[in-house]
Amino acid sequence: MKQPVSFQHLAPDYIQRFEAYIPSKPDDELKKLFGCSHLFRLNNNENPLGPCLSAARVISSFVPSPQASIYPSGDCWLLRQKLAEKYGMDPNQFLFGNGANEVIAFVIKAFCQKGDNIITADKTFAVYEWVAEFSGIEARLVPLKDYGFDDDEMIRGIDEHTKILFVCNPNNPTGTYWNSEKLRGFLNRINGRRIVVVDEAYCEFVEKPDFPDSMSMIAEYPNLVVFRTFSKMHALAGLRIGYLAGSSEAVDIIRRTCVVYSVNTLAQAAALAVIEDNGEHVQQTRDLVRRQKQVLTEYLANCGLQFLSGEGNFIMIRLPMSDSLAYRRLMMQGVMIRTMTGFRFPNWIRVTIALPDAMDSFMTGMENILKT
Ligand SMILES: *Cc1c(COP(=O)(O)O)cnc(C)c1O
Repeated sequence: MKQPVSFQHLAPDYIQRFEAYIPSKPDDELKKLFGCSHLFRLNNNENPLGPCLSAARVISSFVPSPQASIYPSGDCWLLRQKLAEKYGMDPNQFLFGNGANEVIAFVIKAFCQKGDNIITADKTFAVYEWVAEFSGIEARLVPLKDYGFDDDEMIRGIDEHTKILFVCNPNNPTGTYWNSEKLRGFLNRINGRRIVVVDEAYCEFVEKPDFPDSMSMIAEYPNLVVFRTFSKMHALAGLRIGYLAGSSEAVDIIRRTCVVYSVNTLAQAAALAVIEDNGEHVQQTRDLVRRQKQVLTEYLANCGLQFLSGEGNFIMIRLPMSDSLAYRRLMMQGVMIRTMTGFRFPNWIRVTIALPDAMDSFMTGMENILKT
């Protein structure tokens, strides 16, 4: 007989309240479900060009034995040396994780205890809020102002239990960004009293000259923590690798909550090739995104649809219908977009900028759903 277990008793309230995130099914399952023969995934802001050639070579020449049988470097030793050289910092100022998603958890665990809170925006990357909540930490959500992070209101929201402020720069999903002056002003007002995290998952796409050089600001602001990922521009999303950078003092604390070996050997080797790459791949990707964004925004303007085209490799579009209905109807035509109701933007969708064939499919799909 099965033993009775009281899970209600075992799991804290904040876990019982929390709803698990449901990831999308594999392509073959979705194609069957929606009856489409191909599928363009424009939902995750991936780079359709794939990784740079040198990283692709590292991946294809991976030798399973012995490499797969032995543990990776537990602290991404070589990668940290390379980043230290690149940015003129110390290797101890970098901490790697299984995607930037994992380093979010490192930081929250390192600084927050019961009764503490974090502050971020209401319409931004949701993982800061989620990790806080399932860790029993309050997430204070400050409404966006003109689709961007509201510095004044974030500061107004601080109380004695606030430990971390998360700024997504540029913001996913609106594409707005804080320039150097605004970030400095914010850090000056915080005056070292809280941790300020700047999540720069899309920084490599930004072409604006006034975008902050956050790495160089760490020397002035020891409470500044910068997140980077290899998933978006560098097209290694499937290998799961990202990192944070900060002062040695901040990283010394954060490292205590980091479980070693979470970054696998192949991810480390491919990321190393990315850091050593000559930058041509980044340039090519920027060219593609710039051109296709232009095509798409012209189309949307012609349709009379409201959109937000910011600094990332994605665009947000406001629809005259429910976003979940648009999702289903686009899926039937082989195009997957991101519904934005979950980001608190009902009836908006987010679309990744991709290759011309995918963009054409998306625009054709839109024609079809708008005319009926
Ligand atoms: C995609 C994304 C991440 C997570 O990246 P991973 O390294 O793949 O975990 C973090 N922050 C933002 C804003 C993102 O869009």
